[in-house]
Amino acid sequence: MRIVCIGGGPAGLYFALLMKRQHPEHHITVVERNRAFATFGWGVVFSDATMQSMHQWDPQTAETIEVAFNHWDDIELVFKGRKIRTSGHGFVGIGRKKMLNILQDRCLELGVELLFEKDVNGDEEFPDADLIIASDGVNSRIRTKYTDIFRPDMVVRPNRFVWLGNG
Ligand SMILES: Cc1cc2nc3c(=O)[nH]c(=O)nc-3n(C[C@H](O)[C@H](O)[C@H](O)COP(=O)(O)OP(=O)(O)OC[C@H]3O[C@@H](n4cnc5c(N)ncnc54)[C@H](O)[C@@H]3O)c2cc1C
Repeated sequence: MRIVCIGGGPAGLYFALLMKRQHPEHHITVVERNRAFATFGWGVVFSDATMQSMHQWDPQTAETIEVAFNHWDDIELVFKGRKIRTSGHGFVGIGRKKMLNILQDRCLELGVELLFEKDVNGDEEFPDADLIIASDGVNSRIRTKYTDIFRPDMVVRPNRFVWLGNG
């Protein structure tokens, strides 16, 4: 089977490597518009429960991630000089670029083809594909094109989003 993943974020890369691991006979290509081994965004955290699931699907990727990530249990809230510490959260954290690099390396090791710097306009660019994965993120062009079929249920809320980090 010929499979094309449009978008090389976590979803496209992880799908590609898991599929290739289970079906080495498939020819799988991940097409990404950004440069090779470059990415935007910064930290990613995974809970212990997420890591447990990743161990089940591909222990090698999970182990590489665990070695590269920092693990912590405690979260400390500091407000007006007062510290409140809670335990038992169980998270690993890593830079997004590093995580994608781990997934890209694992894809290459398994024989997934990675194509960078190609901005895909539509699925019709891959007429010989048996399966196309629309892994092109939250503003997916493919999902927008096939809105009538996928019928996404999206509600835009007025809530403010804050992402706090410590550099
Ligand atoms: C500020 C912030 C913090 C977050 N923190 C966490 C966290 O700590 N832990 C966690 O699990 N999740 C976190 N998330 C959510 C996480 O980032 C997303 O769930 C995840 O990135 C979704 O992966 P994806 O592969 O579906 O999409 P994306 O990561 O958006 O990847 C899509 C890829 O497709 C490519 N692409 C898009 N269109 C095209 C095209 N036409 N042609 C070619 N390539 C294309 C893009 O360049 C991109 O590389 C966070 C999100 C945000 C915004």
